[in-house]
Amino acid sequence: MTDRLTNLPILFHELNIHRLPDDKKIKIHQIDEQLPQTQCGLCGHIDGCLPYAYGIVMNGEATNLCVPGGQITTNIISHIMNVPAPTATPSKWATDPTTQRPHAVRAIINEDECIGCTKCIPACPVDAIIGTAKHMHTIITDLCTGCELCLPPCPVDCITLIKYPHAPDDATRQKEQEHLRHRYHHHLNRVAKNMTDGTKPVVNAVESAITNAITGETISPMEQNFAKNTIELAKIRTQIKKLTKQLTTKDNPQLRTELEILQTKLQQLDTP
Ligand code: SF4
Ligand code: SF4
Ligand code: SF4
Repeated sequence: MTDRLTNLPILFHELNIHRLPDDKKIKIHQIDEQLPQTQCGLCGHIDGCLPYAYGIVMNGEATNLCVPGGQITTNIISHIMNVPAPTATPSKWATDPTTQRPHAVRAIINEDECIGCTKCIPACPVDAIIGTAKHMHTIITDLCTGCELCLPPCPVDCITLIKYPHAPDDATRQKEQEHLRHRYHHHLNRVAKNMTDGTKPVVNAVESAITNAITGETISPMEQNFAKNTIELAKIRTQIKKLTKQLTTKDNPQLRTELEILQTKLQQLDTP
């Protein structure tokens, strides 16, 4: 049953999952199977869902950190780990009453504003963005998971998220997650190959981790924190840009407060 944990991309080799006792492998497999596979990093693992599953089983990480998984996923993971289920980490998206998970979202590109810089493409863990240099880019909605990772790199802020009605039954959700996992591993293998060939520059934290895996270096906790903060900072800057744009057209006290909170957060994170 743990076959899926073999032949993993090089990014995951340092986890040495194949050397773990069977009972640990089975739990990691069971938990990973339940995770949404958006690879969004909101659980604190910039390298995606599998390292979080590993962290729960091997390092006692909390069972409620998967934001898009919502309370349902927290409950299932807690059951697998035989611990009481805590309250799920809240999402900025309201709970969808049909799925009891945070509302599904998809990214769309404002085609009039896209300058074809290609910066969003390497950020997408499931290769859902197509386009070539200097031409307008498009997101394949059926593949997009709404992970938001393409928003911070966009220099003209032309990618937005929209709510997307999506309420598959359990079996269909499992199939979709399996497909996304496969696409993510394919993406990681392709990036690793291009880096080994020397045909790809490192442009984000995951690619930096892949480079370390290729060269045999390990990522120190300090580097991991740096990478996480860099992503967080980029997200906050994007939100600030959006709010500032909205406030220039119409004043709104609530948005102004949100903006002030974000500016304070940015300052705190940005202070060494
Ligand atoms: S979906 Fe996002 S938050 Fe949930 S486990 Fe995967 S990477 Fe972490
Ligand atoms: S297109 Fe953007 S939001 Fe959609 S999966 Fe790719 S990176 Fe995530
Ligand atoms: S990062 Fe933004 S401007 Fe650049 S190609 Fe992607 S959507 Fe277009």
